[in-house]
Amino acid sequence: MIPFNLEYYAPDNLDEAVELFLTLEAENKKPVYYGGGSEIISFSRHRKINTGAVIDLKSIPETRIFEVKEEKLITGANATLSILTDQDIYPLLARITRHIADRTVRNRLTVGGNICGKLPYREAVLPFLLSDSEAVLAGPNGRRKEKLGNIFDKRLRLDKGELLVQLLTPLSSLKFKSWSRRREKHGPVDYPLLHLAAVEDGERISVAVSGLCAFPFRDLGLENMLNDKNLQVLEKVEKSLTLLPGDIRSDDIGSADYRQALWKHELSEMLNEMEGAR
Ligand SMILES: Cc1cc2nc3c(=O)[nH]c(=O)nc-3n(C[C@H](O)[C@H](O)[C@H](O)COP(=O)(O)OP(=O)(O)OC[C@H]3O[C@@H](n4cnc5c(N)ncnc54)[C@H](O)[C@@H]3O)c2cc1C
Repeated sequence: MIPFNLEYYAPDNLDEAVELFLTLEAENKKPVYYGGGSEIISFSRHRKINTGAVIDLKSIPETRIFEVKEEKLITGANATLSILTDQDIYPLLARITRHIADRTVRNRLTVGGNICGKLPYREAVLPFLLSDSEAVLAGPNGRRKEKLGNIFDKRLRLDKGELLVQLLTPLSSLKFKSWSRRREKHGPVDYPLLHLAAVEDGERISVAVSGLCAFPFRDLGLENMLNDKNLQVLEKVEKSLTLLPGDIRSDDIGSADYRQALWKHELSEMLNEMEGAR
């Protein structure tokens, strides 16, 4: 049970959703956008958030689509994780999201909720960062399209009242050779100790990581070093520790030392496999 009163709104277009946000905000109801609602409900039960109103985005058609159009894969923010695991257009996206919870839960969780959520993992962002996807946003100042990598810094940097509408992924990037490895404590649907995903576009290896730090990331400085042809794999692995964008996480599923050991092992495996295939 949620221990406070909550108003529920389900607008059927983006303008109405943003209008509602502004009105409810002016009434000091601290509104939040709502996808599958799992995180909002769970956080509300534990009083980790205190909102007076939720704006459910699922009735807005643009946020629900998952389709290919004009050389782009369009993923609506309200596409469920099950939709992403069931498709075969973008295999890395299916592989990564298949590890999040079980199928029944994934039928409810949305990709927008995962990426905009507050948990440290947010694994669904990894394939979109690696494919240089763009984010379509709507807010009080209208709509904008931004390269996801430019606005995802520890979290998705949204302006007040702004919402994620879609992710646009160039079809050309779906053909990249990909690699991913997830390590857990108890089993495949556990939260990740480490999830390392990588792609190679014929010239350069790109990596995106979840579980290692307090946030998921793709880091250009780290990638530049990993692509330095003058360094051996072992040197790269050691140097990577100085280039991580945050401290290595320590929690009840794994210590920082254990995560560091996993990182070194998996990074070295990835580099050997991806570089060896060149
Ligand atoms: C059993 C279980 C296991 C899980 N395991 C994992 C795991 O292994 N790895 C992992 O990464 N995650 C995991 N999660 C977390 C889960 O993936 C996210 O909490 C979930 O995707 C949130 O989706 P939702 O649609 O329910 O989000 P909501 O609860 O609806 O929203 C979450 C947050 O995002 C905001 N939001 C939602 N949609 C938008 C939008 N379009 N624009 C702007 N803001 C928006 C909301 O305001 C809220 O702050 C797990 C969750 C459960 C329940």
